[in-house]
Amino acid sequence: MTEHLQTLAVTSGRPATEPDAPLNVPVTLASTYIGGGDVAYGRYGNPSWTALEETIGALESGRCVTFSSGMAAAVAILEQLPHGAKIVVPRHAYQGMLALLREHAERGRFEPTLVDVQETDAVIQALPGAALVWLESPTNPALELADIPAITAAARAAGVPSVVDNTFATPLLQRPLDLGADVVLHSATKLFAGHSDTILGAIVTRDDDWYDRVVGYRSLCGAIPGALDAFLVLRGIRTLAVRLERAAATAAMLAERLATHPAVVEVRYPGFGQIVALVLSDAASADAVVRSTRIVRHATSLGGVESTFERRRRWETESPTIPEGLIRLSVGIEHPDDLLADLLAALDAAR
Ligand SMILES: *Cc1c(COP(=O)(O)O)cnc(C)c1O
Repeated sequence: MTEHLQTLAVTSGRPATEPDAPLNVPVTLASTYIGGGDVAYGRYGNPSWTALEETIGALESGRCVTFSSGMAAAVAILEQLPHGAKIVVPRHAYQGMLALLREHAERGRFEPTLVDVQETDAVIQALPGAALVWLESPTNPALELADIPAITAAARAAGVPSVVDNTFATPLLQRPLDLGADVVLHSATKLFAGHSDTILGAIVTRDDDWYDRVVGYRSLCGAIPGALDAFLVLRGIRTLAVRLERAAATAAMLAERLATHPAVVEVRYPGFGQIVALVLSDAASADAVVRSTRIVRHATSLGGVESTFERRRRWETESPTIPEGLIRLSVGIEHPDDLLADLLAALDAAR
């Protein structure tokens, strides 16, 4: 019997059910272990990571490796590629990813080929000669969708491994390994943790070779998660389903209601998830809005119980093709009416 993902999010990564066993795996603060076992040293393993990895692995149906951040997980994937490798990557990928690839490109380490993920044929045409195709869907912050089955099938036929950054959708809304991807990446900092209180990353794969390589790389590069951080993310995942359900319902409502406000040029919402992009006419009006709310906090990052938003182009590293007036809104679990009233008042003030 296979349980629903909402159940696995609660039941996975628990200690064995023997009398007086704790329900939760404790936070294991240990740099070293008694010799003769499999783990030996704190850079190679920790029971708090294992519980979290079992749970994320169950949600994506694969084997999970956790890292100190989403970016550390991304680097662990990239480091498996040969020098000068061509990487097909969305032109609107997460800005940190694009900044990292730009730096590597300057040194000749990689050759990134930027694509519009919505243009499936163009992505497929860019595959020959690539060592990796990196997808993000929906993209951050433009909320564009990629045809993951079509692109990963073409990549497989061309012998190109595929990675999907599934941070925005989470396995509850999209399971890229089922859609043909070789590797899934998560910034567990966001919806998994869900409370804006820790940073952690994860990779999930069904391919033993990828698994062995990224585990080995983690042990040597040392970008390991802290035990307390792993505990916090696992605690966050326990409530992921209800948080996401509430936040996504509010996001859909806000996307519809805010679209008709005269200060809003365009609302982007892919129809699922809890991120909404509000495009205002220019940077000044967007900046005025993010300064005018009482409930929604002006902060970067996303996926917390608290609603946050920011004008993305305030970051120099953000793609120049993202509109200057685009505000990325991460919808939390506050009462939907309060969020609507707060945002409408801020948009009125910005006019
Ligand atoms: C935040 C984010 C990352 C980077 O993750 P960190 O945990 O901040 O290192 C990668 N991809 C996406 C889509 C993100 O939103």
